[in-house]
Amino acid sequence: MTFTLPPLPFDKSALEPHISAKTFDFHHGKHHKAYVDKANELVKGTALEGMPLEQAVIESRKQGVGPLFNNIGQIYNHNLFWLSMAPNGGGAAPSPLLEKINETFGSFDAFKEQFVNAGIGQFGSGWVWLVVNKDKLEIVKTANAETPLTDGKTPLLVCDVWEHAYYLDYQNRRADFLKVFLEKLVNWNFALENCKKAAKMTGCGVSCGCGA
Ligand code: MN
Repeated sequence: MTFTLPPLPFDKSALEPHISAKTFDFHHGKHHKAYVDKANELVKGTALEGMPLEQAVIESRKQGVGPLFNNIGQIYNHNLFWLSMAPNGGGAAPSPLLEKINETFGSFDAFKEQFVNAGIGQFGSGWVWLVVNKDKLEIVKTANAETPLTDGKTPLLVCDVWEHAYYLDYQNRRADFLKVFLEKLVNWNFALENCKKAAKMTGCGVSCGCGA
């Protein structure tokens, strides 16, 4: 099989009361699994069979937005979403990412406000991201299965704003879910690691100010 469903990086109860085990039963066990199963079915016998996930995301997007890209994109986006959260997450970003965030968005509070507003502003299903674009940080929102990876940007972290991500725990209160994501769940160490990787890829050594 080309694609696999990775296990959650924490116990399904570990993020309670912010995200319930029941939400993970559906979101990881049903929704994410369905994208993996469907994508494996669709790539069978095509050039994408056996391709690494990130490459398959980019290659399927070149063929346009349809079932193939949508299912592969959703595998990638969900893989990143689970890793973007941790028990006892939230709080302030670690240095030197914190300084770069302050410099880019004005302050850490301003960053959080802009991130929440981007999530609220995504009409219908989608995602809100913190990414590195060349040597700059950006907040990006994408619709459905779209991902900044296909625009050459490097995701640092992502929050799922499809209703299935929050409806069991927050019903229609997407803004509350986004605030809890930032205050209690976000895995800043994962974002920092991705930032360092981005710095190495661009070779400039100063992306995000990480100096990697
Ligand atoms: Mn989802």
